Amino acid sequence: MSFIQIENLKKEYKTGDQITTALKNISFNVEKGSFTIILGPSGSGKSTTLNAIGGMDHMTAGKVIVDSEDIANLSSTQLTDYRRSEVGFVFQFYNLIPSLNVLENIDIVRKMSKSSISSETILEEVGLAQRKHHFPSELSGGELQRVSIARAICKDPKILLCDEPTGALDTETGRKVLQLLQSMARLHNKTVVIVTHNSSIAQAADRIIHIKDGIVEKVTNNPHPIGID
Ligand code: ADP
Ligand code: ADP
Repeated sequence: MSFIQIENLKKEYKTGDQITTALKNISFNVEKGSFTIILGPSGSGKSTTLNAIGGMDHMTAGKVIVDSEDIANLSSTQLTDYRRSEVGFVFQFYNLIPSLNVLENIDIVRKMSKSSISSETILEEVGLAQRKHHFPSELSGGELQRVSIARAICKDPKILLCDEPTGALDTETGRKVLQLLQSMARLHNKTVVIVTHNSSIAQAADRIIHIKDGIVEKVTNNPHPIGID
């Protein structure tokens, strides 16, 4: 049985009396320890799908089974616990707190989880030990994304969810960030799901889920994913 199973997922957003069907019918599996990329144009439903796995939003129909449990069946307390300890998030625009330094940004998220991982160790692994007292405004885009990867890993979650993690970076910096994500995921044995509209980064994945207009167009398996190095 796959670690994550998405079955016939449907999501309608209601805005006033208008209904937007973001997901019509989405099904796919994610294997434990794998690197999966959800690829598709803007507005196709990628973020909505990622939010479903992250337990961030209620779905209209369908199942999101993580580690044999349908997360739609969790109570809201259990769901908060799931988000806090089982899922690490990496966002396009980093979402760091501007008034906290690098170490504090990591610690605030780590302490909410039950993780015993040392923030300092992870900062060394992402090459930012010497930046721990810097504030977000003092860092480059690539460094900010390395901090958010460290923040996500520090929770010691089972799953890393990344929404356009290279979207705000130039090609070369994006390549390095993806490479770091790959090596950190391998080192800490994480299951990674990345959302992107950029097909050039998809070659790094074990599996590519092609999404268009709220349905899965095709699934491509890559038996020999290319290391981004
Ligand atoms: P993608 O990540 O592929 O760009 P999204 O999952 O963000 O796509 O959005 C899919 C569709 O759902 C789009 O038409 C978008 O406008 C709509 N949508 C997303 N979030 C909301 C929301 N909170 N309220 C209403 N419509 C939304
Ligand atoms: P709560 O329901 O307790 O307010 P949240 O959904 O705000 O919980 O956050 C739960 C977990 O989700 C946090 O531990 C954090 O890692 C992650 N998370 C949610 N939103 C963000 C964000 N904007 N930036 C970083 N992490 C986030």
